Amino acid sequence: MITLTGLTKRYGGTTAVADLSLTIEPGLVTGFLGPNGAGKSTTMRMILGLDEPTAGTALVSGRRYARFRHPLREAGALLDARAVHPGRGGRNHLLAMARSNGIPRRRVEEVLGMVGLSDVAGKRAGTYSLGMGQRLGIAGALLGDPPVLMFDEPVNGLDPDGVRWVRELMRSLAAEGRTVFVSSHLMSEMERTADRLVVIGKGRLIADAPVTEILAGS
Ligand code: ADP
Ligand code: ADP
Repeated sequence: MITLTGLTKRYGGTTAVADLSLTIEPGLVTGFLGPNGAGKSTTMRMILGLDEPTAGTALVSGRRYARFRHPLREAGALLDARAVHPGRGGRNHLLAMARSNGIPRRRVEEVLGMVGLSDVAGKRAGTYSLGMGQRLGIAGALLGDPPVLMFDEPVNGLDPDGVRWVRELMRSLAAEGRTVFVSSHLMSEMERTADRLVVIGKGRLIADAPVTEILAGS
């Protein structure tokens, strides 16, 4: 579960996120829809404690993410592919994350297999295509087997098979009872993946309803 209460972020004169209050529940894929610049990434970064809110709070399973001793076991996220050091191999990147989160080495091999990167795991991440970078980011999110998962524009750079794979992954994570929060700027993507849609524009909540209701009203 993710709980946002009056979550607000201002950068100088720009309000990136304005007074967002939401509960994102387990067992569903909650889509986070809005055009570029709407505030989706900023919201996700605040949930992970990577950005400090100007006002309000963001809690993961009732606590601030930064307070967890092993954060990757509580929530995993695909954020920006640039978060991966380009000189590091995919496997070494995941091993470092596993080590600081008390996750066994064999889990790294397991997630590499799940995302289809086992064969290239020894190569430097800087040589990966955009799609491979996305897969490595997804492997990082899955690494701690967390109850809460967030994916920021996960299908960027993926081919049609990759897009289907991500969609099925989201659905199966939710079917396992996890909280799945996924952003996109494309309604066409969200209507196939999400159960519930949270729509934002200019940092403000515009709609929050089951996808079936939003489709019926459009
Ligand atoms: P989205 O993920 O929906 O595309 P973002 O959260 O990236 O939107 O951006 C929301 C707004 O905040 C935009 O106007 C963006 O320019 C601004 N913004 C995001 N990060 C920063 C930053 N580090 N400094 C200044 N402005 C920022
Ligand atoms: P640093 O190298 O300073 O630790 P990182 O970007 O690696 O910076 O991590 C910053 C924070 O974000 C840490 O709390 C880390 O646990 C968390 N973090 C990094 N990657 C992920 C991820 N894929 N999923 C969830 N949390 C992550």
